[in-house]
Order: sequence, then structure tokens, then C-alpha cells
Amino acid sequence: MVNEYIEKAEENILHTYNRYQVVLDRGEGVRLYGVNGKEYLDFAAGIGVQSLGYGNPEYVEALQAQAARLTHISNLYYSVPMMEAAEKVRKASGMEKVFFTNSGTEAIEGALKVARKYSYTKYGPDRYEIIAMNHSFHGRSMGALAVTGKEQYRTPFEPLIGGVRFAEYNDLESVKAQVTDKTCAVILETVQGEGGIYTAKEEFLRGVRALCDQHDLLLILDEIQCGMGRTGHMFAWQEYGVEPDVMTVAKALGCGVPVGAFVVGKKAAEASLVPGDHGTTYGGNPFVCAAVSKVFDLYEKEHILEHVQKVGGYLTQKLDALVDKYEFFTERRGKGMIQGLEVSGRPVGEIVCKALDNGLIIITAGTNVLRFLPPLVITEADVDEMVEKLERSLA
Ligand SMILES: *Cc1c(COP(=O)(O)O)cnc(C)c1O
Repeated sequence: MVNEYIEKAEENILHTYNRYQVVLDRGEGVRLYGVNGKEYLDFAAGIGVQSLGYGNPEYVEALQAQAARLTHISNLYYSVPMMEAAEKVRKASGMEKVFFTNSGTEAIEGALKVARKYSYTKYGPDRYEIIAMNHSFHGRSMGALAVTGKEQYRTPFEPLIGGVRFAEYNDLESVKAQVTDKTCAVILETVQGEGGIYTAKEEFLRGVRALCDQHDLLLILDEIQCGMGRTGHMFAWQEYGVEPDVMTVAKALGCGVPVGAFVVGKKAAEASLVPGDHGTTYGGNPFVCAAVSKVFDLYEKEHILEHVQKVGGYLTQKLDALVDKYEFFTERRGKGMIQGLEVSGRPVGEIVCKALDNGLIIITAGTNVLRFLPPLVITEADVDEMVEKLERSLA
């Protein structure tokens, strides 16, 4: 049955992913079930999306009610869910204004437009360069791809937006070296996700902030993967005492419905996008915003941040123990519930496939990192089960 489904999928779907040979059917809590009934413990959360796990009754009820009431109206009108969702994002971030998108890559496009428009408004057309980081990932649309620090992803699609210079993550001098009289912004992930789970060092992030202030550059922090509580803070930057001018969020923002946002601070809000500069038909429709709004409520009600700090600490201990125990695990990186184990001398893809056979879903990052992005509601018992299944997959 599984093979028939897969054959049919491959017959019809453009082959841009080498998918695992699994057809998933339903989810419950932190578990997923295949069409054949096989159970999986989920430590990937649909790439960091399903922070509340699957089938949270209040979440489901909110979406069902909104689906029946009103799903889409366009951005020509106001809706109550959008108003509420934006207020919650604003309150959680302490930033000024929110624009809802349909995805992470679109949030990045918006953030880049904010940066260019800010500089255009204040300094005219010649100040358009953006400094991005090597090994970064910001998405697949042309602008987001242009600031993604992986050459293989970019090359076949060039020319991209142009005016992008790359620096080394966590190397302040390399960022300074890329600043010219044409620079308008610096973009980076507070924790690099796809690139292999690298956390920004405090001196680095503070240094980049100071550099941006010195040259009036906008600092764009991409929180699409590391935000929404994954590090134990609602947004990863909140732990650094450094505020971005623009932040991008997506993935867990709607916990399963397609929604992202770019959020702008005071400075960028006052001198960038104005009516006519940017838009979206679907973005922030009542359906997805009802989800966003409920997600913030449930984070508060279920004390998600405290939970991530506690269980994330336990996960850290357990992963550190694996690094001590197995010589092919060379390093643990990340924090809270965005963690990576660096693997040397054996292919990570094989471990992931073995884990799937053993009923554990994990994914990879970079070329040699096992990535752990579980639903934020996992318990210590789930961590123990994950370790047990992972260890069985290493044999
Ligand atoms: C996933 C991701 C994106 C792109 O988001 P999409 O919703 O896939 O377009 C951008 N930045 C980071 C850090 C991501 O992890």
C-alpha cells in the first residue's frame, strides 16, 4: 500500500525532494502514524513547525470554528483574528508593526524590501547592499535565495537580486570588512538552522548591532526556525539584550497553517513601506490568524517557554552524554529544542533512515549534523525514548 502511494506521488509531483519512504496519515500529541499504522516519535515537528504537537484540542477547535465562520477576505478589509494576532506578535516581541505572509521565504522578501526602502527613503537609491552570512538559509524565492549562504542553491538561478555580500557567521571582523558606503542591512539567523545548528555568540550579535547603529544599517534577524520559543525564549534574540530592526518569523508561528510574518521596529516602521509598496492576497487571512492567535494563548496557558527551558536542559544533558559515549558524535550544538549532533566518519542520512525504521523521526542539517527540532511539548520520557531509539539505530 505504502509503495503504491509513493509511486502515485512520484508520478504526479515534481521531483524536487528525495522523500523518505514513509506516507504519514495522522498525528496525536508528539507521535505520527503512517498509513500502514506504524507509529513514530516525532523529533522534527515538520521542520520546527508543530510546536504544540498534533491535535491539541483547543487549537483544533479554534481552527474549526474559524473555518466555519470566515477563512479569507483579502487585505482590503480588516478582520478581528488579524488584529488580535498582530497585537500578540507585537506584545511578545516588543516591536512596532507586523506584516503577515504565507511562508518564511516571503517574510524574508518583505524584510529585504523594508531594508531597501528604509535606505532609499533616507539616503536615495545608491545604498542597497545587504550583508548576509555563509552557511545561512533564508528560503527559496529569488530574494531569500540571494541572501542564502549556500552557493549550490544560488548558482543555477543567477542573476539573483544583486548587491549581496557574504561574511562569516560569528566573525565580527568579517562583517565589518563587507561594509561599504552602499550597505543598507545585515541579515542573519539568531541560530543558524539548516546550516548545521550554530548559535550566535553574544559578542558577535552585540557587535553586529553596534556596527549597524554606527552606519545606520538595518539589522534583520531571521527567527523563522529558532523563534517561537524553541530556544526557551519567545524569540532567540531576547536572550541577548539586542533588538533587531526587522525580524522574520514563520514555521511555528501558526503551528501547522501556512503563515509567516516580518515584524519591524520603530526605526524601520517610520521610514520604510507605505501603501502601495507591498502586498499579498492570502497573507494574514482570518483562518491563519485565528491559528496564530490561539498559538500565543496556548504558549502562555501551557507555560511553553518554562517547559522548553526545563526539558531542553534535559535534552542537552542526554545529547552531551551521547557525545561522550560515541566517538563519531563529535559535538553537540544549539540549545533548548533546536539542537544538533555533529557526526563524523559515517553518513547522517543512514542514521536517519535507521531511526525511521525504529519509529523515530529526526532530520539532518548541513552535511553531517543530526538535527533535533521536537514539538516543544515533549516530556523527559519522550527524550529518553528518543535516545533509546536513536541508540538502536546506531548499531
Ligand atoms: C525554513 C526557513 C526559511 C524559509 O521558510 P519557508 O517557509 O520554507 O519559505 C527561512 N529562514 C529560516 C531560518 C528557515 O529555517
